[in-house]
Amino acid sequence: MNNLENLYRQVIMDHYKNPRNKGLKGYDQVHYKNPSCGDDITMEAKVESGVIKEVNHQGVGCSICCSSASVLSELVKGKTVEEALDIINKYYKMLLGEEIEDEEVLEDALVYQGVSKFPARIKCATIAWKALEQLLKGDKDERKF
Ligand code: ZN
Repeated sequence: MNNLENLYRQVIMDHYKNPRNKGLKGYDQVHYKNPSCGDDITMEAKVESGVIKEVNHQGVGCSICCSSASVLSELVKGKTVEEALDIINKYYKMLLGEEIEDEEVLEDALVYQGVSKFPARIKCATIAWKALEQLLKGDKDERKF
């Protein structure tokens, strides 16, 4: 394991063990499940005048799923809905192994780059992001992932 991978692992384990913005407060929510891994996550967001004021999450799952929900909640806070959807799209591209021009907008989410080598884990890394994406697009129905 090289130093960069080690650093990435530390960031993931930190968010897994000390999740930011965990616990729901009753804003608009979307709930997603990934039966193949047992990931089960609810994302909620408080949006005012097109700006994301708060994102919270609650659920159970593997370290990739839970930590990425925490990273996401910090990443999009204070952004407009449009900016957040753009970031979410860039994140999907990164996981598909595609080049992204301004990848620095992904900040801590860059630690999931390596997941692109493990297709089975891509669902884990995107479940919280898909849920938030759906929520930001205004569709609040519960979906299976
Ligand atoms: Zn998982």
